[in-house]
Amino acid sequence: MGLFDRQSKNPIIATYRNMGKKITCPNCGNTKFEVRDVLLNTTAMTFFGFDWANKNASAMICTQCSRIEWYFNPPKIINE
Ligand SMILES: [Zn+2]
Repeated sequence: MGLFDRQSKNPIIATYRNMGKKITCPNCGNTKFEVRDVLLNTTAMTFFGFDWANKNASAMICTQCSRIEWYFNPPKIINE
């Protein structure tokens, strides 16, 4: 059991937007992210201290520096 049990086998690497703004890595400024849907199961719930379980979240992994940004609602892909 791990945080990325439900990761997709072929994650999409793309540029994303949230609330109409392009998502940029706060660490390195990169705009390409690999997104994985993650089930916030009981283990993850405890880890993050949330009071709910079995919700999906999107983990956006910077393809340049590997920083992870978390989004509760999946961001939209920008078609460039
Ligand atoms: Zn980065």
